[in-house]
Amino acid sequence: MKIICIGRNYAEHAKEMNAAVPSEPVFFLKPDTALIKDNQPFYYPDFSKEIHHEVELVLKISKAGKNIEQEFAHKYYEEIGIGIDFTARDIQAKCKEKGLPWEKAKAFDGSAPIGNFINKKDLPASISFHLNVNGKTVQKGNTNDLLFSFDAVVAYVSKFFTLKTGDLIYTGTPEGVGPVAIGDRLEAYLEEQKLLSFEIR
Ligand code: MG
Repeated sequence: MKIICIGRNYAEHAKEMNAAVPSEPVFFLKPDTALIKDNQPFYYPDFSKEIHHEVELVLKISKAGKNIEQEFAHKYYEEIGIGIDFTARDIQAKCKEKGLPWEKAKAFDGSAPIGNFINKKDLPASISFHLNVNGKTVQKGNTNDLLFSFDAVVAYVSKFFTLKTGDLIYTGTPEGVGPVAIGDRLEAYLEEQKLLSFEIR
């Protein structure tokens, strides 16, 4: 399986990163070794001093597709979950400065904790989500604020990559990204349901 992550999909987050609001989706990949499941802890890596949380809604692809039309894209995912796109911000800044790829900063082991999924039929048309760190809400988002809708993202990505059952699409983070520290507890909520809870060690 593969993990596809959309960058800069909320205008306020693009702004806080001093990045332009994109005219088409920006995306990158993480390998399956990035996943952390079952609320297992995240181990702070020694290569970075600035790991940031980015809470994101995640689509689970439910059937294979290529060149999917946007109007049919909703047929390719049934479940929505929540995850963290951990980013080594210090390394990313260096990559950006040199115009190099982001993988070292984005795709390292454990950089994609993933929680439980909910059938989209059980969710409202516009979905709210948030992240608490040590009980305090640090990021809050709503799909109303997406620059590229879930269906637009599925259609766009499938032009380049065949989507397969079980692939995950992290759909971008709202504003409020920030550093995590050893000992922090991260809890992510989709609507009012806590779907992910884990510790930084
Ligand atoms: Mg992200």
